[in-house]
Amino acid sequence: MCGIVGYIGKDKCIPIIINGLEALEYRGYDSAGLAYVDKGKIILKKEVGRIENLKNNLDMNVESYLGIGHTRWATHGKPCQENSHPHRVGNITLVHNGIIENYDELKKELIDYDLKSETDTEVVAAYIDKLYKETKDMLKVLQLLKKHLIGSYALGIIVDGINKLYAIRKDSPLIIGVSEAGNFIASDVPAILRYTNMYYLLLNDEYAVLDEDDVVIYDRDGSISTKNIEIFEGSYEAAMKNGFDHFMLKEIYEQPKVINDTINEYIKDKKSFFAKMKGLEKYKAIDIVGCGSAYHVGLVGKSLITEYGKVLVNVDIASEYRYTNHIYSKKHLIILISQSGETADTLAVLRKAKKENIDTLAIVNVVGSSIAREADKVLYIKAGPEIAVATTKAYTCQLMLLSLIAAYLGVKNGNLDDSIFEEYHNIVRLLDDSLKDTKDIQKVAKMIWQNKDVFYLGRKVDYALAMEASLKLKEVSYLHSEAYAAGELKHGTISLIEKNTPVISIVTDDSIRSKTLSNIKEVCARGALSIIITNQDISDNEMYTELIRLPKVSKLVESVLVIVKCQLLAYYVAKLNGCDIDKPRNLAKSVTVE
Ligand code: GLU
Repeated sequence: MCGIVGYIGKDKCIPIIINGLEALEYRGYDSAGLAYVDKGKIILKKEVGRIENLKNNLDMNVESYLGIGHTRWATHGKPCQENSHPHRVGNITLVHNGIIENYDELKKELIDYDLKSETDTEVVAAYIDKLYKETKDMLKVLQLLKKHLIGSYALGIIVDGINKLYAIRKDSPLIIGVSEAGNFIASDVPAILRYTNMYYLLLNDEYAVLDEDDVVIYDRDGSISTKNIEIFEGSYEAAMKNGFDHFMLKEIYEQPKVINDTINEYIKDKKSFFAKMKGLEKYKAIDIVGCGSAYHVGLVGKSLITEYGKVLVNVDIASEYRYTNHIYSKKHLIILISQSGETADTLAVLRKAKKENIDTLAIVNVVGSSIAREADKVLYIKAGPEIAVATTKAYTCQLMLLSLIAAYLGVKNGNLDDSIFEEYHNIVRLLDDSLKDTKDIQKVAKMIWQNKDVFYLGRKVDYALAMEASLKLKEVSYLHSEAYAAGELKHGTISLIEKNTPVISIVTDDSIRSKTLSNIKEVCARGALSIIITNQDISDNEMYTELIRLPKVSKLVESVLVIVKCQLLAYYVAKLNGCDIDKPRNLAKSVTVE
């Protein structure tokens, strides 16, 4: 994920590109860069961090009418000047969004090139330069490219001495904006809305050549396309949300894709999966540490790693863990979970662990963040930038990664066989299906939105999920909600259950199913409004007012289906209550204070 903007036209390009990048900053902000043509020469400007840094070092008045810009979400190589886009090799300068999976193989054909960055993108720039030198024809190069590149790419390209802007895409988004004053390329509509609302959607393997007053789009077979122009009628704000009312909902719906990206990153190639996880089997004890949802996902991880990996796991809240004395075994690992990689308490635990010489492994979303840099080993999730304060897609990607650790350990110790990896691909399809119909959840939201208190029940892994479900509901809808281990309620809290108190029970774990069902009967007897989320039918329909029925799949992946329903419930309840869903009161996305 990253943002691309390019412009060729009658107006000065630098302010247009910076403006466009600012609208795309939600797609990544590891670094920002710009290439523009000034008196026939290509000038490159790049800065690490926010677009603001780049803007402060630019002269907006340069007489340049052709340029490309990029805001990066690093995938290959840390965020630094060298790895920032645009990349320039030979006659080619380009920006890239996506991942080139065969960049290492391509590199072998580029021995004449002295590549300087760690990115897959610079390899593409060199490869295009090589093809251009061979063919001397950019159209031919664009036509050939799909034969050589494996992976995803949206590319904006400038060639030395040619006053044109080239674009091509596969599996990464790209649009071509058109206006009287000039033409644009962009990753997303908000980037061009200030100048035009008319654009073409570039499809996979299509490519385009832009002049100051003309755009030609080519089909994948090289013939000129006659596609229709799209007109965006909505506001800038609506364009940012891509048709969704809120970023939270957009991010909930992104989950099949980002989970797929995360899974593919690790298990597409089994050999490299075993290489990436190598060594984890040596640990006799694991402490998982995080804050908020990251703590809750750790609890799910504990349940999976204990069951399949047969390792002793302890989970703790970072702000507690950092001030507690611990007893470590000889082979002890601390797993730190943080979306931003900057969570102050989690970072403090990491630093404490390092002082005590305990091995550390970080599960992080933001590449090159403090926790990612300082941990002994880092496993990145591929959630992409998360804008809504309440996490959804980062949580499920973290869950998948912990599950993959459990699967790795399970295969290593003979508890599981290789076929288990199929489950990870199935879950993406099932999740996609489950997001198609949310009527059941919207109905439940309408039942509970006016209540003051909601209870979530579950046992074992279902209790861990109940904790996250409850947190999601309270953080976005402001309803008071509590998660209880189903067997614990009668030791006090059941006194709060009265007629129509919503009790949402999660029942997926077969090993404890009958016990949880008995606890549900106890609350029903006290008049609770019972809602059950489960993976099996329940014959006694006196036990619930609404049953959310999920497919039955392996425990290693099942939790994702449950939690996505709970995320949707929190969202719809918050919506009915008119809450500021993406920015709940008193909360911040990255908690960098203790
Ligand atoms: N793979 C490229 C990189 O890491 C592009 C990442 C992006 O889409 O921002 O530089």
